[in-house]
This record gives sequence, C-alpha cells and structure tokens, in this order.
Amino acid sequence: MNHQETSSINFFGEDAIPVELHKVRIVQKLHLRPVEERLDAIGKGGYNTFLLNTKDVFLDMLTDSGTNAMSDNQVSSMLKADDAYAGSQSFYKMEQALKEVFGKEYILPVHQGRAAENVVSQIFIKKGDIIPMNYHFTTTKAHMELNGGKIVEILTAEGLRIKSKHPFKGNIDIDQLKTLISNHGASKIPFIRLEASTNLIGGQPFSIQNMREVKQVADEHGIMIVLDASLIGENAWFIKQREAEFKNTPIKEILRLMCSFADIVYFSSRKVSSTRGGGICTNSKELFLKMRDLIPLYEGFLTYGGMSVREIEAMAVGLMETTDETVISQSPSFIEYTVNELEKRNIPVITPAGALGCHIDAMSFLSHVPQKEYPAGALAAALYIISGCRGMERGTISSVRDENGEDVLADMELLRLAFPRRVFTLSQTKFLIDRVHWLYENRGLVGGLKFVEEPEVLRFFMGRLAPVNDWPQKLVEKFKKDFGNSL
Ligand SMILES: *Cc1c(COP(=O)(O)O)cnc(C)c1O
Repeated sequence: MNHQETSSINFFGEDAIPVELHKVRIVQKLHLRPVEERLDAIGKGGYNTFLLNTKDVFLDMLTDSGTNAMSDNQVSSMLKADDAYAGSQSFYKMEQALKEVFGKEYILPVHQGRAAENVVSQIFIKKGDIIPMNYHFTTTKAHMELNGGKIVEILTAEGLRIKSKHPFKGNIDIDQLKTLISNHGASKIPFIRLEASTNLIGGQPFSIQNMREVKQVADEHGIMIVLDASLIGENAWFIKQREAEFKNTPIKEILRLMCSFADIVYFSSRKVSSTRGGGICTNSKELFLKMRDLIPLYEGFLTYGGMSVREIEAMAVGLMETTDETVISQSPSFIEYTVNELEKRNIPVITPAGALGCHIDAMSFLSHVPQKEYPAGALAAALYIISGCRGMERGTISSVRDENGEDVLADMELLRLAFPRRVFTLSQTKFLIDRVHWLYENRGLVGGLKFVEEPEVLRFFMGRLAPVNDWPQKLVEKFKKDFGNSL
C-alpha cells in the first residue's frame, strides 16, 4: 500500500492539502448574513461587488491588494517608525531592504502601484508611442493611454488558453516582439513592460528563459525593460517550482536575477510586501533623476512618497518576508488546492493554477449568458448572493467601449477569487468550493446584467448594473429550497 492509500491526508507534493505555516494570533469577526439580506445588499451595490459594504461580506476575495495578513514582525516594526517629513530613518530601512531584495540602488517612494505607473508613463511615453507588454493591467493601460501611448499585448498564444498545462503562460512571444520592433522602429518604443504573475490572465508567471530572450532583443535595439514587480514573489516561487534550472536556487537569488533584466522596477506594496504604498527602483542615476521631480509633485517628499512612515517600516520587513518560501508559497498552495478541487467537479477554471487567486471561466460556466450581458459580472453577483463570498469581475465590465459606444468584448470573462496571503483557512476554502459547486449545478438560473450607470473611465470600479430579469429572486428561491434556514 502506498502512503496515499494508508492515509487520507496528503500534505505535500501533488494534490496536497495546503497547510497554514503560521498560527492565528489576532482575529477579526466575520458576518455571514442571511440570503435575503445578501440579495438586498447586492441590489443596493448596483450588482457590482466593488460597491458592497464589508459588513455584508463573509469571505472577502475581491483582491489581494492591501489585504494580505501582516506578520507579527511587520506590526511590531510599525511602533519603531521614525516620524519625520524629511530624512526619516524608516525610509532608509526600506531603501536598504529594496537594495537587498531587488538589487537596485535608487528608489522613489509612491503611495501605491498606479502612482508608479503615472510617473513612468508621464516621463517616458510620448504621443504615438507603442508599449509592448505580455498583458495589460487596468490602471497601467489607463495611464499609458492618458499619455498618448498605445499598448500592444504580445503574449504567447498559450497565455489566453483557459485550459493549459503550460508552466509559463505569462511569457512574451519573442517573434511578435521582433516583428513589432521592425514594423514601428525602436524609436517609437520607449520600453517593453513585463508584468510578473500576469494579473489579468490569471496570475500567470513568465520564465527566466523568456526574460533572457526579451532582454537580448531589447539590448539589440537599445530599448529599456520596465518590470511590474507587484506580484514578483509568486512569480519567483513558480520559477523555482516549474523551471528546472532553478529548482535548487533560493527565492532571494531568483528575485535578484529577475530584477537584473529590468532598467526600471516598479511595484505596488499592497501586494508585494503586504502593506500599502509602492515604489520605483533603478540602478541608473540618469533614469532616477528623470523621474525624481514628479514625486514631490504628486506623492510627497522623497523620503515618504505619500506613505505613512509606519507603512514604510512594515514594507521593509514585508519585502524581506517575500523572500521566505514558507511565506510566499502560502497563497499559491491554497489557490492550487482550490483549482484542483473545482476541476474535480468539472467546474471551468484557469489552469495551471497561478498567483493571487483562483480564476473561474465565466464564459463557459454561464455559457447561456451572452458576453454583452457580462457573464463574469453576473457570476460574481450570483456567487455573492448564495455564499457571501465576494470575488471580482475580470471581463468585459473591466474593459471599455470603442469610439462607436460598443463594448470591447474582453478576451476572457473571469471571476477572480483572490487569496490574499495567510488570510483564509482551509475550512473557509472548503466552504467556498462547496458553494461554487452548488452554483455550478444551478447555473441555469443565473442570467445577465446591464449597465444603469456607467462612468467613462475605469467603469468597473463605480459602475452600477441591474439584472436583465428577475433571475436573482429565482436563484434565492432555489437556494432556500436546498439550504432551508441555513445561511
Ligand atoms: C495591483 C496592481 C497594480 C496597481 O497597484 P495599486 O497599488 O493597486 O495602485 C499595478 N500592476 C499590477 C500588476 C497590479 O497587480
């Protein structure tokens, strides 16, 4: 008999049950409201999970941004923060941590990731420029377009395949990169942007090999590389797991190597170091000086950049913790477990499992809902109603309209269920899986959504929608029939 037959629990290796490698010392009470109250809450929130109030949310899986659990060392470091407008010791600690983790000399602090995107875009993008990237992120694209740039996604074809065994779906297609440069000329390309654990395609990593190839092409044409390192820790973890050459390399070395390919590294600390804030780093004094003047203008003085010194202290500690495998592996192992369990139930999810969350393919889950009725948004609302779990739509609602006012249909319609680091337990994860399964069996009851209030910029944040008919009431009726009085 092998181990799997003698024991029902398998903690490590293939198909493992994730183990929390930390203990809970401070807790926050959660509320699981009755289903009618949840129906009422989503109605008041315009069927947009961004507009829910957390008092009505059970498991908040909207995002990993600013919601990772802090460690005892991070929290205690905040007490030692040095309150100063200029020259704070907290800043120098953070600068030292960044030098150590990313291997970059110069750092510009900013209040969060998108502020870094604003600075980089304003300084380097001219009207008519082309910015090649593996895939866009919502705020990145908005800032680049605001400065007259056009983004071009040159992901490999595998990147957009929902079901895949490819270990590095975030890789750039090198042939497309070469063609793009020869068609437009290097002078039209201010930089190539690489996004670690590519968010909108399901937190999918790229390989070191791909970075090497991109770097070679970039160097041949004298084009800079800008790395979005918001989710770099998880990307490094996947490199260690999936790229044979690095299976015995410490995460710390992988991180340094990844950053060494980039002229500029920017990040959101809300993800990478479980705090708030962000930064831009480089080893080039010239690039540093080009960007520096925008920091006091938009963010704050150069030693705080819109962050509180307490956050800066915690960021220094959090950055160091990102190099710890028992920390960085937590979120990916819970995501992998969830993806495996949903696959066993034939529920369509993005594979292989990536970083930041489990991504359900709403186009296939709700194949009867036309894409112009926003299946991913409808699925997010339906899951909230029947479970209190709040996910995020990553589909056409997160896209835009074209010049004729028509929706630009997204490549994928995803419901993202984020797993912030060290926040949820295994039993909560099982609750989620169970409810997603119930919803899948009753998916025929879920209908589409339509906009009733639609902002022009980043409409997914504040837009209000309504169901196309009374499907939410029918869903609640079925829920009550199956679950009785239980929540
Ligand atoms: C979250 C995120 C950003 C934006 O960061 P904020 O701190 O939320 O402003 C930018 N890029 C990527 C890849 C992200 O995941």
